[in-house]
Amino acid sequence: MNNFKERYANALMNTFGPPQLMLERGEGAYVWDAEGRRYLDLLGGIAVNSTGYCHPRVVSAVSQQIATLGHTSNFFTTAPQLELAERIQGIFGAEGYPADEVRTYFANSGAEANEAALKIARLHKPGGRVIALEKGFHGRTLGALSITHKPAIREPYEPLPNNVTFTPCSVEGITEAFDADVAAIFMEPIQGEAGVRPVPREVLLAARKLADEFDALLILDEVQTGIARTGRWLCHSDTVRADIVTLAKGLGSGFPIGACVGIGKAGKLFTPGSHGSTYVGNPVCTSAALATLEVLEGLLEHVAQTGEWLRHQLEGIGFAVRGRGLLLGIEVKEAKKVAAKLLEEGFIVNTPNEETIRLAPPLVITARELEPFVEVMARVVA
Ligand SMILES: *Cc1c(COP(=O)(O)O)cnc(C)c1O
Repeated sequence: MNNFKERYANALMNTFGPPQLMLERGEGAYVWDAEGRRYLDLLGGIAVNSTGYCHPRVVSAVSQQIATLGHTSNFFTTAPQLELAERIQGIFGAEGYPADEVRTYFANSGAEANEAALKIARLHKPGGRVIALEKGFHGRTLGALSITHKPAIREPYEPLPNNVTFTPCSVEGITEAFDADVAAIFMEPIQGEAGVRPVPREVLLAARKLADEFDALLILDEVQTGIARTGRWLCHSDTVRADIVTLAKGLGSGFPIGACVGIGKAGKLFTPGSHGSTYVGNPVCTSAALATLEVLEGLLEHVAQTGEWLRHQLEGIGFAVRGRGLLLGIEVKEAKKVAAKLLEEGFIVNTPNEETIRLAPPLVITARELEPFVEVMARVVA
């Protein structure tokens, strides 16, 4: 088993580079590799494992559902699918949206949720342009890639839909790019892949104002920030109202599920035949998401508090920290080296760039579990 890197290279396409570890099992915020070594997971499968590994509520919901009815196609609905869509209405209602005006299209991933949002933007204003932010990330499928900024991952796949304008993340930037041809403006409330960079409040507010003025949709990509990650159900809703919100990562505790949530008119532009995919809204994934939401409901305050505690600890030992709740970017020099050292010491983190360590741990993690990480970081500074 210890030749996993060689076996991997010989059997899988080389999209991700060599795997760092071969993982075997997990519990709470910890994972164990195939050699029995334990790691504290501060990345959570890239902000996905929000309930921690093998949460009993999730395990039980999924096991029961797969043993009862695993898949149906979208010619039919199921109780978990309906309940999840209604639960999402409840969450948006609690965040200040008109719950009965909320409609969900389920997807299998974050990129797919954004594909749906892009298609809705086309229906909203046929032939219209889309504005996206520099440094923004929205996924790797061709449509989602067309609004993803990083040239190194986008350019090899051109031509892409060519109706996208990238602008700096500033009020002037988006104001200059806006006109009556714009169908939608896309942004993440915190740019996760860019290194956990919060979009300033005034940019979100200006996007709302411009979208209203020019009859465009404000589409907020909360694939990484949504569903309790920042200590709130939605990261944006204390600042601004969106027309569409996309969700994925933290929604399913590891089951592939995304959601494109439309409010008002934006939730009603798809009609029968407009869009679809075989697995979407599948009963196993929607059961996993329902159990996830049940668990997270009791954790919102915990996430906010634990995130604040961790930020203060890290700032106290001299780090600059960005982000909110348990989505944090720590400024370091030579991030890859730091991450390699942390892995040796039993901590999984990731490095969206050479200046940032990103933390997006399971939301069940406690300050006590995080203390050894703070100690190691103090040594890293020294
Ligand atoms: C991860 C991510 C995506 C893509 O989601 P996938 O499930 O990997 O397709 C889109 N937007 C944001 C903000 C993300 O962090």
